Amino acid sequence: MTMALVQNNTLDLIGNTPLVLLQGPSEAAGCEVWGKCEFANPGASVKDRAALWIIRDAEARGELKPGGTVVEGTAGNTGIGIALVANARGYKTVIVMPDNQSKEKMDTLRALGAELVLVPPTKFADPAHFVHTSRRLAEETEGAVWANQFDNVANRKAHIESTAPEIWQQLEGRIDGFTCAAGTGGTIAGVGLGLKAFDENIRIALTDPHGAALYSYYATGELKAEGTSVAEGIGQGRITANLEGAPIDTQFRISDEAGLEWVARLLREEGLCLGLSSGINVAGAVELGKQLVAEGRKDVRVATILCDTGFRYLSTLYNADWLRAKNLPVFPWLG
Ligand code: PMP
Repeated sequence: MTMALVQNNTLDLIGNTPLVLLQGPSEAAGCEVWGKCEFANPGASVKDRAALWIIRDAEARGELKPGGTVVEGTAGNTGIGIALVANARGYKTVIVMPDNQSKEKMDTLRALGAELVLVPPTKFADPAHFVHTSRRLAEETEGAVWANQFDNVANRKAHIESTAPEIWQQLEGRIDGFTCAAGTGGTIAGVGLGLKAFDENIRIALTDPHGAALYSYYATGELKAEGTSVAEGIGQGRITANLEGAPIDTQFRISDEAGLEWVARLLREEGLCLGLSSGINVAGAVELGKQLVAEGRKDVRVATILCDTGFRYLSTLYNADWLRAKNLPVFPWLG
Protein backbone atom coordinates (compact mmCIF):
# COMPACT_ATOMS: atom_id res chain seq x y z
CA MET A 1 0.00 0.00 0.00
CA THR A 2 1.36 3.42 -0.85
CA MET A 3 0.29 6.46 1.09
CA ALA A 4 1.71 9.97 1.21
CA LEU A 5 2.72 10.71 4.78
CA VAL A 6 3.77 14.32 4.19
CA GLN A 7 1.27 16.91 3.00
CA ASN A 8 1.76 20.58 2.24
CA ASN A 9 -1.83 21.53 2.96
CA THR A 10 -4.15 20.40 5.74
CA LEU A 11 -6.96 19.76 3.25
CA ASP A 12 -4.76 17.11 1.63
CA LEU A 13 -5.20 15.14 4.86
CA ILE A 14 -8.72 14.32 3.66
CA GLY A 15 -8.84 10.93 1.95
CA ASN A 16 -5.97 8.50 1.40
CA THR A 17 -7.30 6.60 4.38
CA PRO A 18 -5.91 3.16 5.24
CA LEU A 19 -7.69 -0.06 4.28
CA VAL A 20 -7.60 -2.75 6.95
CA LEU A 21 -8.25 -6.49 6.78
CA LEU A 22 -10.90 -7.30 9.37
CA GLN A 23 -10.19 -10.64 11.07
CA GLY A 24 -13.53 -11.58 12.65
CA PRO A 25 -15.64 -10.54 9.65
CA SER A 26 -13.26 -12.38 7.27
CA GLU A 27 -13.61 -15.55 9.34
CA ALA A 28 -17.39 -15.21 9.45
CA ALA A 29 -17.64 -14.64 5.69
CA GLY A 30 -15.07 -17.25 4.65
CA CYS A 31 -13.25 -14.67 2.54
CA GLU A 32 -11.31 -11.42 2.91
CA VAL A 33 -13.37 -8.52 4.33
CA TRP A 34 -11.61 -5.15 4.16
CA GLY A 35 -12.63 -1.92 5.92
CA LYS A 36 -11.85 1.57 4.60
CA CYS A 37 -10.86 3.60 7.67
CA GLU A 38 -12.84 6.79 7.08
CA PHE A 39 -12.62 7.63 10.79
CA ALA A 40 -9.00 8.54 9.97
CA ASN A 41 -10.11 11.71 8.15
CA PRO A 42 -9.51 15.02 10.01
CA GLY A 43 -13.20 15.33 10.92
CA ALA A 44 -13.25 11.63 11.85
CA SER A 45 -15.79 10.62 9.21
CA VAL A 46 -16.38 9.77 5.56
CA LYS A 47 -18.22 13.09 5.13
CA ASP A 48 -15.00 15.15 5.03
CA ARG A 49 -14.63 13.99 1.42
CA ALA A 50 -18.12 15.21 0.41
CA ALA A 51 -17.56 18.51 2.24
CA LEU A 52 -14.28 19.13 0.39
CA TRP A 53 -15.70 18.26 -3.03
CA ILE A 54 -18.88 20.33 -2.47
CA ILE A 55 -16.87 23.39 -1.41
CA ARG A 56 -14.34 23.02 -4.24
CA ASP A 57 -17.19 22.63 -6.73
CA ALA A 58 -18.90 25.82 -5.46
CA GLU A 59 -15.57 27.64 -5.78
CA ALA A 60 -15.00 26.32 -9.30
CA ARG A 61 -18.48 27.45 -10.36
CA GLY A 62 -17.68 30.91 -8.98
CA GLU A 63 -20.52 30.72 -6.42
CA LEU A 64 -18.29 30.73 -3.37
CA LYS A 65 -15.94 33.70 -3.08
CA PRO A 66 -13.40 34.70 -0.39
CA GLY A 67 -15.18 35.54 2.85
CA GLY A 68 -18.33 33.70 1.74
CA THR A 69 -20.57 31.43 3.80
CA VAL A 70 -21.46 27.75 3.46
CA VAL A 71 -24.93 26.84 4.75
CA GLU A 72 -26.14 23.28 5.30
CA GLY A 73 -28.96 21.51 7.04
CA THR A 74 -27.41 18.60 8.95
CA ALA A 75 -26.84 17.53 12.47
CA GLY A 76 -23.87 15.36 12.01
CA ASN A 77 -20.74 14.46 10.21
CA THR A 78 -21.37 16.61 7.14
CA GLY A 79 -21.59 19.73 9.30
CA ILE A 80 -18.30 18.84 10.99
CA GLY A 81 -16.61 18.26 7.62
CA ILE A 82 -17.98 21.50 6.19
CA ALA A 83 -16.92 23.52 9.24
CA LEU A 84 -13.34 22.20 9.02
CA VAL A 85 -12.99 22.69 5.25
CA ALA A 86 -14.64 26.12 5.44
CA ASN A 87 -12.22 27.18 8.19
CA ALA A 88 -9.27 26.07 6.08
CA ARG A 89 -10.58 28.04 3.09
CA GLY A 90 -11.63 31.17 4.99
CA TYR A 91 -15.42 30.77 4.81
CA LYS A 92 -18.07 31.04 7.49
CA THR A 93 -20.28 28.03 8.26
CA VAL A 94 -23.97 28.10 9.19
CA ILE A 95 -25.51 24.79 10.21
CA VAL A 96 -29.27 24.39 10.60
CA MET A 97 -30.27 21.49 12.82
CA PRO A 98 -33.38 20.18 14.59
CA ASP A 99 -33.31 21.10 18.29
CA ASN A 100 -33.76 17.45 19.40
CA GLN A 101 -30.24 16.46 18.34
CA SER A 102 -27.63 15.47 20.89
CA LYS A 103 -25.88 18.15 22.90
CA GLU A 104 -22.55 16.57 21.90
CA LYS A 105 -23.18 17.39 18.26
CA MET A 106 -24.21 20.97 18.99
CA ASP A 107 -21.14 21.42 21.21
CA THR A 108 -18.86 19.96 18.54
CA LEU A 109 -20.17 22.22 15.79
CA ARG A 110 -19.95 25.30 18.05
CA ALA A 111 -16.40 24.31 19.05
CA LEU A 112 -15.41 24.25 15.39
CA GLY A 113 -16.74 27.78 14.94
CA ALA A 114 -19.97 27.03 13.07
CA GLU A 115 -23.01 29.22 13.67
CA LEU A 116 -25.91 27.00 14.76
CA VAL A 117 -29.51 27.71 13.83
CA LEU A 118 -31.92 25.46 15.74
CA VAL A 119 -35.35 24.65 14.33
CA PRO A 120 -38.15 22.42 15.67
CA PRO A 121 -37.98 18.78 14.51
CA THR A 122 -40.70 18.71 11.84
CA LYS A 123 -41.63 16.57 8.85
CA PHE A 124 -39.95 17.17 5.47
CA ALA A 125 -43.21 18.62 4.08
CA ASP A 126 -43.09 21.43 6.69
CA PRO A 127 -41.38 24.59 5.34
CA ALA A 128 -39.68 24.91 8.75
CA HIS A 129 -37.87 21.58 8.23
CA PHE A 130 -34.10 21.99 8.65
CA VAL A 131 -33.37 21.23 4.99
CA HIS A 132 -35.79 23.90 3.71
CA THR A 133 -34.67 26.38 6.38
CA SER A 134 -31.04 25.93 5.33
CA ARG A 135 -31.90 26.49 1.65
CA ARG A 136 -33.85 29.65 2.51
CA LEU A 137 -31.06 30.98 4.73
CA ALA A 138 -28.51 30.41 1.96
CA GLU A 139 -30.73 32.29 -0.50
CA GLU A 140 -31.22 35.19 1.92
CA THR A 141 -27.55 35.50 2.97
CA GLU A 142 -25.22 37.60 0.84
CA GLY A 143 -22.30 35.53 -0.52
CA ALA A 144 -23.70 32.22 0.79
CA VAL A 145 -24.00 28.85 -0.92
CA TRP A 146 -26.21 25.92 0.06
CA ALA A 147 -24.20 22.69 0.28
CA ASN A 148 -27.31 20.53 -0.40
CA GLN A 149 -25.51 17.24 0.21
CA PHE A 150 -28.49 15.04 -0.72
CA ASP A 151 -28.98 16.36 -4.24
CA ASN A 152 -25.62 17.95 -5.01
CA VAL A 153 -23.72 15.33 -7.02
CA ALA A 154 -20.36 16.87 -6.09
CA ASN A 155 -20.94 14.64 -3.06
CA ARG A 156 -20.79 11.36 -4.98
CA LYS A 157 -18.07 12.72 -7.24
CA ALA A 158 -15.82 12.74 -4.16
CA HIS A 159 -16.17 8.96 -4.02
CA ILE A 160 -15.88 8.41 -7.77
CA GLU A 161 -12.65 10.41 -7.82
CA SER A 162 -11.08 9.52 -4.48
CA THR A 163 -12.58 6.63 -2.45
CA ALA A 164 -13.04 4.19 -5.36
CA PRO A 165 -9.58 4.62 -6.94
CA GLU A 166 -8.00 4.37 -3.48
CA ILE A 167 -9.74 1.03 -2.77
CA TRP A 168 -8.84 -0.26 -6.26
CA GLN A 169 -5.17 0.66 -5.79
CA GLN A 170 -4.98 -0.55 -2.21
CA LEU A 171 -6.32 -3.99 -3.28
CA GLU A 172 -4.12 -3.95 -6.39
CA GLY A 173 -7.13 -4.36 -8.66
CA ARG A 174 -8.35 -7.55 -7.02
CA ILE A 175 -11.78 -6.96 -5.51
CA ASP A 176 -15.01 -8.92 -6.02
CA GLY A 177 -17.57 -6.89 -4.11
CA PHE A 178 -18.28 -3.65 -2.28
CA THR A 179 -21.12 -2.71 0.02
CA CYS A 180 -22.22 0.10 2.32
CA ALA A 181 -25.37 1.79 3.60
CA ALA A 182 -26.82 5.03 2.24
CA GLY A 183 -27.56 8.34 3.91
CA THR A 184 -27.35 10.75 1.02
CA GLY A 185 -26.24 7.80 -1.12
CA GLY A 186 -23.08 9.62 -2.15
CA THR A 187 -20.76 6.88 -0.89
CA ILE A 188 -22.54 3.81 -2.32
CA ALA A 189 -23.27 5.48 -5.66
CA GLY A 190 -19.85 7.10 -6.01
CA VAL A 191 -17.77 4.10 -4.94
CA GLY A 192 -20.06 1.85 -7.01
CA LEU A 193 -19.67 3.94 -10.17
CA GLY A 194 -15.95 4.41 -9.55
CA LEU A 195 -15.23 0.70 -9.03
CA LYS A 196 -17.39 -0.38 -11.98
CA ALA A 197 -15.32 1.93 -14.18
CA PHE A 198 -12.30 -0.23 -13.30
CA ASP A 199 -14.15 -3.57 -13.55
CA GLU A 200 -17.86 -3.81 -14.22
CA ASN A 201 -18.01 -7.30 -12.67
CA ILE A 202 -17.39 -6.00 -9.15
CA ARG A 203 -20.64 -6.67 -7.31
CA ILE A 204 -22.09 -3.56 -5.67
CA ALA A 205 -24.49 -4.24 -2.81
CA LEU A 206 -26.60 -1.80 -0.86
CA THR A 207 -26.71 -2.53 2.87
CA ASP A 208 -29.87 -0.93 4.22
CA PRO A 209 -30.78 -0.44 7.89
CA HIS A 210 -34.31 -1.12 9.08
CA GLY A 211 -36.60 1.90 8.68
CA ALA A 212 -35.15 2.83 5.27
CA ALA A 213 -36.91 2.42 1.93
CA LEU A 214 -34.04 1.54 -0.40
CA TYR A 215 -33.84 -2.23 0.24
CA SER A 216 -37.41 -2.56 -1.00
CA TYR A 217 -36.77 -0.14 -3.87
CA TYR A 218 -33.85 -2.12 -5.27
CA ALA A 219 -35.58 -5.45 -4.61
CA THR A 220 -39.06 -4.61 -5.97
CA GLY A 221 -39.03 -1.09 -7.43
CA GLU A 222 -41.21 0.22 -4.59
CA LEU A 223 -39.97 2.66 -1.94
CA LYS A 224 -41.26 1.08 1.26
CA ALA A 225 -39.82 1.35 4.77
CA GLU A 226 -40.21 -1.29 7.48
CA GLY A 227 -39.13 -1.16 11.11
CA THR A 228 -36.83 1.38 12.74
CA SER A 229 -33.14 1.96 13.43
CA VAL A 230 -31.14 4.12 15.81
CA ALA A 231 -28.20 4.29 13.39
CA GLU A 232 -27.24 7.90 12.66
CA GLY A 233 -26.35 9.15 9.19
CA ILE A 234 -27.97 6.28 7.25
CA GLY A 235 -31.51 5.29 6.26
CA GLN A 236 -32.96 6.97 3.19
CA GLY A 237 -36.59 7.15 2.05
CA ARG A 238 -36.20 8.54 -1.46
CA ILE A 239 -33.96 8.38 -4.53
CA THR A 240 -31.74 11.41 -4.04
CA ALA A 241 -29.90 12.92 -7.02
CA ASN A 242 -26.78 11.20 -5.68
CA LEU A 243 -28.54 7.81 -5.84
CA GLU A 244 -29.84 8.25 -9.37
CA GLY A 245 -28.20 5.66 -11.64
CA ALA A 246 -26.34 4.02 -8.74
CA PRO A 247 -25.16 0.59 -9.99
CA ILE A 248 -26.74 -1.55 -7.26
CA ASP A 249 -26.55 -5.28 -8.11
CA THR A 250 -27.96 -6.69 -4.89
CA GLN A 251 -29.17 -5.59 -1.46
CA PHE A 252 -29.19 -6.67 2.19
CA ARG A 253 -31.28 -5.50 5.12
CA ILE A 254 -29.37 -5.39 8.40
CA SER A 255 -30.80 -4.92 11.91
CA ASP A 256 -29.34 -2.64 14.59
CA GLU A 257 -28.68 -5.75 16.71
CA ALA A 258 -26.59 -7.34 13.96
CA GLY A 259 -24.70 -4.08 13.44
CA LEU A 260 -24.13 -3.62 17.17
CA GLU A 261 -22.72 -7.13 17.44
CA TRP A 262 -19.98 -6.19 14.96
CA VAL A 263 -19.41 -2.84 16.71
CA ALA A 264 -18.85 -4.79 19.94
CA ARG A 265 -16.67 -7.48 18.37
CA LEU A 266 -14.50 -5.07 16.38
CA LEU A 267 -13.91 -3.05 19.53
CA ARG A 268 -13.14 -5.95 21.86
CA GLU A 269 -11.35 -8.26 19.45
CA GLU A 270 -9.66 -5.88 17.02
CA GLY A 271 -9.37 -2.56 18.89
CA LEU A 272 -11.53 -0.48 16.55
CA CYS A 273 -14.03 1.96 18.09
CA LEU A 274 -16.73 2.65 15.49
CA GLY A 275 -20.23 4.04 15.06
CA LEU A 276 -23.27 1.91 14.26
CA SER A 277 -23.35 2.59 10.52
CA SER A 278 -19.89 0.96 10.35
CA GLY A 279 -21.20 -2.10 12.22
CA ILE A 280 -24.15 -2.35 9.84
CA ASN A 281 -21.79 -2.01 6.87
CA VAL A 282 -19.56 -4.80 8.20
CA ALA A 283 -22.59 -7.07 8.72
CA GLY A 284 -23.55 -6.35 5.09
CA ALA A 285 -20.02 -7.06 3.89
CA VAL A 286 -20.10 -10.46 5.65
CA GLU A 287 -23.38 -11.25 3.83
CA LEU A 288 -21.91 -10.15 0.50
CA GLY A 289 -18.76 -12.22 1.05
CA LYS A 290 -20.84 -15.31 1.94
CA GLN A 291 -22.97 -14.81 -1.17
CA LEU A 292 -19.93 -14.66 -3.46
CA VAL A 293 -18.30 -17.67 -1.73
CA ALA A 294 -21.56 -19.67 -2.03
CA GLU A 295 -21.43 -19.13 -5.79
CA GLY A 296 -18.18 -21.09 -5.85
CA ARG A 297 -15.85 -18.13 -6.37
CA LYS A 298 -12.31 -18.53 -5.09
CA ASP A 299 -10.13 -16.04 -3.16
CA VAL A 300 -13.06 -13.67 -2.66
CA ARG A 301 -12.35 -10.14 -1.46
CA VAL A 302 -14.99 -7.63 -0.40
CA ALA A 303 -14.65 -4.13 1.01
CA THR A 304 -16.82 -1.75 3.01
CA ILE A 305 -16.69 1.62 4.73
CA LEU A 306 -15.85 2.23 8.40
CA CYS A 307 -17.75 5.53 8.35
CA ASP A 308 -16.90 7.31 11.59
CA THR A 309 -15.38 7.07 15.05
CA GLY A 310 -17.28 5.60 17.97
CA PHE A 311 -16.01 8.46 20.14
CA ARG A 312 -18.83 10.50 18.58
CA TYR A 313 -21.39 8.23 20.30
CA LEU A 314 -20.20 8.00 23.92
CA SER A 315 -23.59 9.15 25.25
CA THR A 316 -25.53 6.76 23.02
CA LEU A 317 -24.04 3.53 21.65
CA TYR A 318 -21.47 3.32 24.45
CA ASN A 319 -23.90 4.25 27.24
CA ALA A 320 -25.71 1.42 29.05
CA ASP A 321 -28.74 3.55 30.08
CA TRP A 322 -29.26 4.78 26.53
CA LEU A 323 -29.01 1.26 25.08
CA ARG A 324 -31.48 -0.07 27.67
CA ALA A 325 -33.92 2.77 26.95
CA LYS A 326 -33.82 1.78 23.27
CA ASN A 327 -34.31 -1.92 24.13
CA LEU A 328 -30.95 -2.72 22.62
CA PRO A 329 -28.41 -5.18 24.03
CA VAL A 330 -25.91 -3.56 26.40
CA PHE A 331 -22.23 -4.29 25.75
CA PRO A 332 -21.28 -6.59 28.68
CA TRP A 333 -18.32 -4.47 29.76
CA LEU A 334 -20.58 -1.40 30.20
CA GLY A 335 -22.46 -3.14 33.04
N1 PMP B 1 -22.47 6.78 8.27
C1 PMP B 1 -22.45 7.95 8.93
C2 PMP B 1 -22.09 7.96 10.39
C3 PMP B 1 -22.78 9.14 8.25
O1 PMP B 1 -22.76 10.32 8.91
C4 PMP B 1 -23.13 9.09 6.88
C5 PMP B 1 -23.47 10.35 6.17
N2 PMP B 1 -24.84 10.68 6.14
C6 PMP B 1 -23.17 7.83 6.26
C7 PMP B 1 -22.81 6.70 6.98
C8 PMP B 1 -23.65 7.65 4.84
O2 PMP B 1 -22.93 8.28 3.85
P1 PMP B 1 -23.62 8.88 2.55
O3 PMP B 1 -24.29 10.17 2.94
O4 PMP B 1 -22.50 9.07 1.61
O5 PMP B 1 -24.64 7.91 2.04
